[in-house]
Amino acid sequence: MANSIIDLRSDTVTKPTSAMRAAMTAAEVGDDVYGDDPTVNKLQARMAEMVGMEAGLFLPSGTQSNLVALMTHCQRGEEYIVGQDAHTYKYEGGGAAVLGSIQPQPIENAADGTIPIGKIRSAVKPDDAHFAKTRLIALENTIGGKVVSEHYLAEVRAFAIDAGLSTHLDGARVFNAAVKTERSVRDICQYFDSVSVCLSKGLGTPAGSVLCGSKAFIKAGHRWRKMLGGGVRQSGILAAAGLFALDHHIERLTLDHENAAFLSESLAAIDAITATPPDTNIFYVNVAPADCEALHAYLRTAGIVATVGPRTRFVTHLDVSRADVNRVIATFKAFFLMPEARRRLAFH
Ligand SMILES: *Cc1c(COP(=O)(O)O)cnc(C)c1O
Repeated sequence: MANSIIDLRSDTVTKPTSAMRAAMTAAEVGDDVYGDDPTVNKLQARMAEMVGMEAGLFLPSGTQSNLVALMTHCQRGEEYIVGQDAHTYKYEGGGAAVLGSIQPQPIENAADGTIPIGKIRSAVKPDDAHFAKTRLIALENTIGGKVVSEHYLAEVRAFAIDAGLSTHLDGARVFNAAVKTERSVRDICQYFDSVSVCLSKGLGTPAGSVLCGSKAFIKAGHRWRKMLGGGVRQSGILAAAGLFALDHHIERLTLDHENAAFLSESLAAIDAITATPPDTNIFYVNVAPADCEALHAYLRTAGIVATVGPRTRFVTHLDVSRADVNRVIATFKAFFLMPEARRRLAFH
């Protein structure tokens, strides 16, 4: 469709394909609160196998999946070490603190998305009644679209074992990391006690995340899921979309990465723009604050949706083709070809 909307805000905006919808329609279902949904059970087992852990738990959202993980690892009055920029700390409404009575110990992320081991080490509290008990290190991969190196993950794992801490991976986009580095998700997840994987980002389902860990961990997490309102009855309809995505939407993530690389490179070639080359499907574009409002309006007119600001995040996904990318580039070029005064005044 020549004039369809191109939405670059997030990879959550993808709509289920007709083949995915057909798989959902055909799903065999049961009441998952009783553990009776065969499609959910199949998805949980399959994801656990893929990440190399014993068991899986299907949850409605990544936020709830991370929260269940944190509440299972940490009890009231305990703390988790986490990056300032991490989703589990910054973008989940403070759920761990509010609902879990878990204290976050945030640490500033380095430019590559890691949290330096030295800073983790000095944040671990001694066993003393003054302090919350440090229990967990939570990492994210990819973070801001950046792949975190396995060398670093191994270092954190070794430190955690030494310090008697557990490790959780917010692997909302761990498949992007795996495809990018040509490693299996199992390779990446071997450094963690638990991992949360989103199906509704690059994998393109309407909803759902899978939390994986040991059998005992998932059994405890299952209780929290019910308490948090995440027990969904015939959720096999959603799990079927997840199974479909695991069959059909993993390898194609490479296309999203290629589209992001091409788009960022092409936009950066425009004088008024700087852009960071992406590792995966997310990158950031800088434009002069005085151009933002007009650019936002101009893009809208051309059917391109982005949250334009001085630093704008662009995300490629299943519903952005190479032809769409070319349309975005042409639209940016047309805008920035106009003299500064004219383009800034003309589009409000
Ligand atoms: C989207 C996202 C989540 C949360 O997923 P929702 O399904 O939107 O709640 C968690 N972590 C990261 C890194 C994410 O990008």
